[in-house]
Amino acid sequence: MTPQLTFLGAAGTVTGSKFLLESNGARVLLECGLFQGAKSLQERNWTPPVQASTLQAVLLSHAHIDHSGYLPRLVRDGFDGPIFCSPATADLIGIMLPDAARLSEEEAEFRNRTGATRHQPALPLFTEADATRALGLVRRVAFGDAFTPAPGVTARLSMSGHILGASVVQVTTAGRRLVYSGDLGRYGVAVMRDPDPVSEADTLVIESTYGNRLHPSDDGRPILVEAVQRAVSRRGILLVPAFAVGRTQELLFLIAELETAGQIPRLDVYLDSPMAAAANAIYTRYPDEQDPRAAGRVPSRFHLAPTPGDSKRLNELDGPAIILAGSGMATGGRVLHHLRRRLGDERTTVLLAGYQAAGTRGRLLRDGATTLRIFGEEIPVRAKILATDALSAHADQREILRWLRQLARPPQATWAVHGEPDAAAALRDAIARDLGWRVAVAADGQRVAV
Ligand SMILES: [Zn+2]
Repeated sequence: MTPQLTFLGAAGTVTGSKFLLESNGARVLLECGLFQGAKSLQERNWTPPVQASTLQAVLLSHAHIDHSGYLPRLVRDGFDGPIFCSPATADLIGIMLPDAARLSEEEAEFRNRTGATRHQPALPLFTEADATRALGLVRRVAFGDAFTPAPGVTARLSMSGHILGASVVQVTTAGRRLVYSGDLGRYGVAVMRDPDPVSEADTLVIESTYGNRLHPSDDGRPILVEAVQRAVSRRGILLVPAFAVGRTQELLFLIAELETAGQIPRLDVYLDSPMAAAANAIYTRYPDEQDPRAAGRVPSRFHLAPTPGDSKRLNELDGPAIILAGSGMATGGRVLHHLRRRLGDERTTVLLAGYQAAGTRGRLLRDGATTLRIFGEEIPVRAKILATDALSAHADQREILRWLRQLARPPQATWAVHGEPDAAAALRDAIARDLGWRVAVAADGQRVAV
């Protein structure tokens, strides 16, 4: 029987990646991501996408929560098979899943304390104990090694260059070859290596986050210089909401390079994210996945704020200085109290250095919001908001096409996923126009032959 693939998330949207592969009785979940961003999306996390106990295995492309963050819930709901991923991905989810669980528990506790819930009592989506159990199911597979997630299904990971450990997943079953890009990285960027080429696919699933965009030709240095210079001239804070994994390491690397080159003065840098600090340590363990310039040497000249109290004390800090804090889209985390403290101050510069999903505070700021709601308060936006896609960890349209051109022959079917509707449609059109392939945008819940 022809294998089937069902798009259970990241179809028509960016987050919640989950794809069910069925082949002669084998049932394997590709990705196990959390829906993030708009409330209507987050609510989908409460509806089981699949009966967890019927799955034999999960394959993860990389550690980002929109690809891995549903694992503790899947385990809570009865999944107890192996979870296959690269060694660096295993290390990274080792810090990220417990952190996601703590956030979920804190939010439930907050809702119960404040009565901000329709549910009595509000429950966490999953707990730290669920995350620990999920981590106990992880099996590390090195890049290039073949493995068997379920009977009749073999798979192999190759490097996608998106963040440490990020993989392109190649699955062979019933004589068919499925290639899933995961999140595709970029060519010639500061920290990560270029994506590995893939030569053959019968069915290809390609991400389309930036399918309608071309990134700036620079690597983010000019806007970083502009942001630091503004902080210096106004004696203000440069506040950067940054993903703990990937973006933070790249920013630290670029700041260090610009200082060494004399393009910016040496300011105090505060890394207000224990998870980013833990991720730094993991980056130093995998130099081979990185560009030779970086090669695991994460700069260490910054101040840490280990406790929430240390973080709050940064409210007293006078500029010029740089604060990096999560989360990257200002949906939660310590960056929120910094934004509350600093947004109303025109000396502040906020640099949005990554993808800002629809419905997030980061997106509202990027779109020019004049006030922002934080902890129930409307905060006026007087700070200078700068934004760039130059530091993106995702391939843009041209880079996606460059990667696709390396295939020896066109796949029989190509499906665009992991993009907002405009981005996915634009990538579909570009693939059809430039490569002449059969390509469509995957619809939510759609089941297709592999
Ligand atoms: Zn990602």
